[in-house]
Amino acid sequence: MYRLILVVLLLTILYFLLRQMFRGFTTPIRGGREKSGSQLQEEEQDQMIEDPVCHIFVPKRIALIEVIGGREYCFCSQECSVKFRAEHPV
Ligand SMILES: [Zn+2]
Repeated sequence: MYRLILVVLLLTILYFLLRQMFRGFTTPIRGGREKSGSQLQEEEQDQMIEDPVCHIFVPKRIALIEVIGGREYCFCSQECSVKFRAEHPV
């Protein structure tokens, strides 16, 4: 029983370490601004945005963001962006 608790504890620590490592890789380090708005920025990055072409909700951090006609649109893929541009010529 004691060993089980130890294993769970170790796995939890490993999980947090891996998560931190993963975040380090995905979030580019911007000098100076890190401390001020990192939490806010992270929340914004986790925001789900609807693709106007296929209506899939995409997290902002992986979405393809393009400004078309002064408005910001988020697409799930380059394909959708091309389709949107074809349908909405500026
Ligand atoms: Zn799409």
